[in-house]
Amino acid sequence: MVDLEQLIAGARAGKVRDIARMISLVENGSAQVPELMALLAPSAGTARVIGITGAPGVGKSTTTSALISALRARGQRVGVIAVDPSSPFSGGALLGDRIRMQEHATDDGVFIRSMASRGHLGGLAATTPAAQRVLEAAGFDVVLVETVGVGQSEVEVAAAADTTLVLLAPGMGDGIQAAKAGILEVGDVFVVNKADRDGADVTVRELRTMLTLGERVDGGWVPPVLKTVASTGVGIAEVLAAIDDHGAWLAASGELEQRRLKRARDEIEALAVVLMRRRIEAGAGRDRLDEEAVQVVAGHTDPHSAAARLVNSLDASSLVATTRRGDGTTSDEETTS
Ligand code: GDP
Repeated sequence: MVDLEQLIAGARAGKVRDIARMISLVENGSAQVPELMALLAPSAGTARVIGITGAPGVGKSTTTSALISALRARGQRVGVIAVDPSSPFSGGALLGDRIRMQEHATDDGVFIRSMASRGHLGGLAATTPAAQRVLEAAGFDVVLVETVGVGQSEVEVAAAADTTLVLLAPGMGDGIQAAKAGILEVGDVFVVNKADRDGADVTVRELRTMLTLGERVDGGWVPPVLKTVASTGVGIAEVLAAIDDHGAWLAASGELEQRRLKRARDEIEALAVVLMRRRIEAGAGRDRLDEEAVQVVAGHTDPHSAAARLVNSLDASSLVATTRRGDGTTSDEETTS
């Protein structure tokens, strides 16, 4: 068992190893995660969380690196979580494409961590915010969450930020891909990177057209479409200015609060589903499931009614499971159906 208090104290003092160890606990779905999260709860919401998403190769890492430099130039401490849902690698190392962020490796105001999706505790929907919380507790002013790819889960993770940056590049058919993945709805700032290449203006125009077609609420935020050459830093200052503008709008409109509430709801829901599955798989739930399966196969009931009964039976058992016993311990085994 890890001494969590000591770990947190180390992270607050800026010890990189302690921050990394806490994120490993989260990533590995350690049994100590609930306790860790409870200890970190007071520092929730102290950092500005910025999501960056886009197809592989559009320049996310390069842009992230350029943004880190810009944020550091104004004295902000930056934590980066690079999420790769398809990666079988566990986090920790600066792997492969993270090499572009290496220039920040010796800066103690920057912490960069790759995280693979392990499907623990509600998957990315739960592990990413938990890692964000670790970085907030460690005192980072800005947390950048970079996700690889444009699948649904990546979009969801990026959209769980205060401000979501969507990156595209000219001539990759990104517009269509973006529309498919629901990226247009979640983007707060659109960036057409590789503006040094042919077709950047076409992509910008296409994107603007698609954005005007989409439903936007009156008085709402109108997402800017910007051009960058991340590899040389051209346009990065404008991107940061747009992020700042969006931040100011979030605060003034009350949307920040709404987004954070939604994020908390999503996180709780993802964790609740996992807890429910665990209860089904444990003792009484498992027996009940077996019984219901027999009844369904025999044609005495249907799967829908059986599922409803199973969930209802868990309600009762979960009440028992969360009741502290006299000896100060809790037990999931003692649940009765
Ligand atoms: P990611 O997969 O989205 O993270 O993309 P990377 O940041 O790894 O960039 C992919 C490739 O595009 C790398 O070779 C970068 O050097 C290159 N690149 C990034 N930004 C630009 C740019 O603005 N212009 C050009 N020409 N190349 C770029």
